[in-house]
Amino acid sequence: MRKKQFKAESKKLLDMMINSIYTHKEIFLRELISNASDAIDKLYFKSLTDDSVKLSRNDFKIMIELDKDNRILTITDNGIGMTGEELENNLGTIAKSGSLNFKKENADNEKAEDISVIGQFGVGFYSSFMVADKVEVVSKAFGDEQAHRWTSSGADGYTIEECDKEQAGTVITLHIKADTENEHFSDYLEQYKIDELVKKYSDYIHYPIQMEMSHQVPDPENEGEYITEISVETLNSMVPLWRKSKSEITDEDYNNFYKDKFMDYNNPQLVIHSKTEGQATFDALMFIPENPPYDFYSKEYEKGLSLYSNGVLIMEKCSDLLPDYFSFVKGLVDSADLSLNISREMLQHDHQLKIIAKAIDKKIKNELKKMLNNDREKYNKFFKTFGLQLKYGVYANYGMDKDGLKDLIMFESSNADGYTTLSEYVGRMADSQESIYYACGDSVNKIELLPQLDAVKEKGYEVLYFTDEVDEFAIQMLMEYEGKHFANICKDDLDLSTDAEKEAISKKNEDSKELLDKMKEALGDKVSAVKFSNKLGSHPVSISAEGYVSLEMEKVLSQMPGANQGVKAQLVLEINSNHSVAEKLEKADDEQLKKYVNLLYSSARLIAGLDIENPTEFSDMLAEMM
Ligand code: ADP
Repeated sequence: MRKKQFKAESKKLLDMMINSIYTHKEIFLRELISNASDAIDKLYFKSLTDDSVKLSRNDFKIMIELDKDNRILTITDNGIGMTGEELENNLGTIAKSGSLNFKKENADNEKAEDISVIGQFGVGFYSSFMVADKVEVVSKAFGDEQAHRWTSSGADGYTIEECDKEQAGTVITLHIKADTENEHFSDYLEQYKIDELVKKYSDYIHYPIQMEMSHQVPDPENEGEYITEISVETLNSMVPLWRKSKSEITDEDYNNFYKDKFMDYNNPQLVIHSKTEGQATFDALMFIPENPPYDFYSKEYEKGLSLYSNGVLIMEKCSDLLPDYFSFVKGLVDSADLSLNISREMLQHDHQLKIIAKAIDKKIKNELKKMLNNDREKYNKFFKTFGLQLKYGVYANYGMDKDGLKDLIMFESSNADGYTTLSEYVGRMADSQESIYYACGDSVNKIELLPQLDAVKEKGYEVLYFTDEVDEFAIQMLMEYEGKHFANICKDDLDLSTDAEKEAISKKNEDSKELLDKMKEALGDKVSAVKFSNKLGSHPVSISAEGYVSLEMEKVLSQMPGANQGVKAQLVLEINSNHSVAEKLEKADDEQLKKYVNLLYSSARLIAGLDIENPTEFSDMLAEMM
């Protein structure tokens, strides 16, 4: 018999499988069972409209047999089977998914979507070469007279020959590899192991997965003796995990399901399992991963939840079910309300889907709020990983979602250790305090060095530390929290002074008009004003921003490509009227004044985290002064 070669890409995949160091080799069983289940789905679907299918719903099943002596594991299904040509196309090529083709061809048929195509996204049939050194597939397509046998011992090719088989369906025979130092392949010939794997990975398959099981039972005829009883048992419960009642499910069940379905090595940090009835009836099983998925920050990352209708997968990743700010959530939704014959395009406009998405959004928010209130440590950890998403959520879409998110975001602050919520901040506000104060900087350390901070803290006011670029934008979008407005302590209109202090400083500025004008002139249009200030504590100078755009916003906007380049903060150079430097300026002659004010301006920029135009000149001037 002539050996045929695999297509190039198949050979590659096959090589990978054969030499796999993948530790979860056991998933081959899930893959083969999924294929069998898909094949049965197809024949079952046909039986709904075609009387020549003599099987009814209860006749369909998947059988597993173990032959320990010959190291053989077989998986038999009575599904749709494959013709010789299909065997060739489906198992000789990878890029082409038979299940997908079937789906397309029947797209006009109403029940066509009623086909579960779980196998569509796994590693597929080839994974059997991770545990077997020879694989045989005997298959007879429904409606075909002739059966075929496909055989392959790996990457060197495969053979196809005609053979006998009575019933339509497929029998897959795996010749299990010999044990090696590192791998105990014999496990896959043990009934307890197969039982365990079916329960772990394929419990929710709709058709019975059966195996002959032998048990030791007391011998009724000889007391004290045992005999071996053999019975055929159904290994799977056929109920999807998410449809079981919560009391039946262990944490381990959830974790295993998550790790397997979403290919993560870590357990999720939060499991959300909900059953909703009302406007929409659906089960949702959602997970928040411990770490962001490896491609989370890439363009390729696709958010979404799998969508099932009555336990049947209809879409692997439905992005409409998750808002962007929850794009890190993994999981699925199962609803009986969705009509199965809707296409992807129609799904987007489906009213029911919108109701579900809304309910899911609410559910996740509630669970996060619960975590925030009941397990702060856990929430802090969550927030460290995904908090940025929520802040972007406040800002995005013109603040459309801000109200739902404002109580989930947190900031570090001058008061609390770690993070504080806005609500906690407001709860700590003094009666006299009118605004929620914040300061921006690259890090907490840098913010704590800001000259403006001392004065605010001296008043006994807490300051939020904005260390993420999006923070101030998000807060601008919020505008206020519980009626309290936000105030940047580095903005020039921040005023914490008493009336008397205010009067004093404004008199000082009036009296010094000539001096201030000279200094402004020396700096040209680098600043919009120079003035004396009484809010700098013990520090000589600072730079603040006038108007809407803060220093931090300017920094962010100037990094964005395109339109925002020109946006500049209007800078005000503030000089501490209580500092000896003020006196020095008053006494300086015009030449000196020019130098002093330039020095002060440059150092104020450095404090604010802005760069200076000419560091060399700055250093030269400093040295000269000394
Ligand atoms: P996938 O299932 O992702 O399409 P596989 O490599 O697992 O990829 O299988 C390739 C194709 O072979 C399937 O799409 C299906 O058409 C066919 N196939 C595999 N196993 C069976 C089976 N037990 N019965 C009928 N067809 C099968």
